[in-house]
Amino acid sequence: MMLETNLKETLAELSERGLKRKMRTIEGSQSREITLDGRKVLNFCSNNYLGLADDPRLGAAAAASITAEGFGSGASRLVCGNLSSHSRLEEKIAEFKGTERALLFSTGYMANLGIISSLYNRGDMIFSDKLNHASILDGILLSGAEYKRYAHVDMESLEAMLKAAPPLVKKLIITDSVFSMDGDIAPLPAIVALAKKYNASVMVDEAHGLGVLGKNGKGAVEHFGLEGQVDIQMGTFSKAAGSFGAYCCGSNQLIDLLINKARSFIYTTGLPPSVAAASIQGLEIIAQEPQRRTKLWKNTEFLLKALKDMGFDTLNTQTSIIPILVKDAPLSVRFSERLLEDGIFVSAIRPPTVPANTARLRVTVMATHTEQDLNKLLSSMKKIGKELCLI
Ligand SMILES: *Cc1c(COP(=O)(O)O)cnc(C)c1O
Repeated sequence: MMLETNLKETLAELSERGLKRKMRTIEGSQSREITLDGRKVLNFCSNNYLGLADDPRLGAAAAASITAEGFGSGASRLVCGNLSSHSRLEEKIAEFKGTERALLFSTGYMANLGIISSLYNRGDMIFSDKLNHASILDGILLSGAEYKRYAHVDMESLEAMLKAAPPLVKKLIITDSVFSMDGDIAPLPAIVALAKKYNASVMVDEAHGLGVLGKNGKGAVEHFGLEGQVDIQMGTFSKAAGSFGAYCCGSNQLIDLLINKARSFIYTTGLPPSVAAASIQGLEIIAQEPQRRTKLWKNTEFLLKALKDMGFDTLNTQTSIIPILVKDAPLSVRFSERLLEDGIFVSAIRPPTVPANTARLRVTVMATHTEQDLNKLLSSMKKIGKELCLI
């Protein structure tokens, strides 16, 4: 009974502060238009940037794998759950990223936990952007290394911390490549230069970079021409690649070490092979259909300019993740609800996902949005933005 009383109080407090979260159920597939609570609405909050999550070719690849390899993988990869689709995907992503080798993890969250905590320990120092993904922070906490949080994309802040660190301590700088709630891109060339100067290693989380950034969609490392200069390249297949799961790309030795030490890799069942097969298909489409990326950028530029012209504060976004700063958490929920009444789904993002007093709508653009979709969003945003005194 004690537990129930505590739960009730905690939930009531979240509600009062406008921070209580709830899930909405979608019927059917993840597309530009979805059926939400029985109603058709436009989808402007998915990470399905290239429209691959509902591409029939991914489903067909998964179905073929199920026929050949069954559904479950039966055990952890180190016991007897290492199936050929896993190995093929690892070869494919390592080749795509141009690294010696790669290792799959079941999710991006588990990848960050496992990579960071197996490579760094008490006595080491990890320098992490203030707005890095929660899974990076959790990985650092689990590692026991000293956590140095530098101001968002602020290279002076990072350098001051590196300068103050003892020279012989093992150091890692970690950053998201595209910040998941702000849409800006990390200054990777400057980070790599500082890492060289202060003898630190670099890890980049390309969850929102893969398929989106770089001429061939390889991510921020390609975008900045930094191939061979980033020690650890982590990313996920769950966003632009339209599938599920995550990878770590790097040297032979790095991967060998992770296989031996990363607990979130060792002590968990291998991914269903059909999921790996779908990821292989997603990667192939990313490589073979650059027109999807071109369309994504075209849609993004159009929408971002129009929203800025209306007077919305879109922070410093440079990508298809477009934050609309509202600040007040309950007001951000109100904005989202009003859009939904107009048939548009954009979720409100509130603390603790973003810092206090920076609640926002997070609009995401997809290659599959039509001009009509974008215009419908814009006219509702304008109307409701005025009504709520945001513009
Ligand atoms: C989504 C995301 C993750 C987590 O990936 P999952 O596969 O969804 O667990 C990690 N890092 C960043 C930056 C992300 O946006």
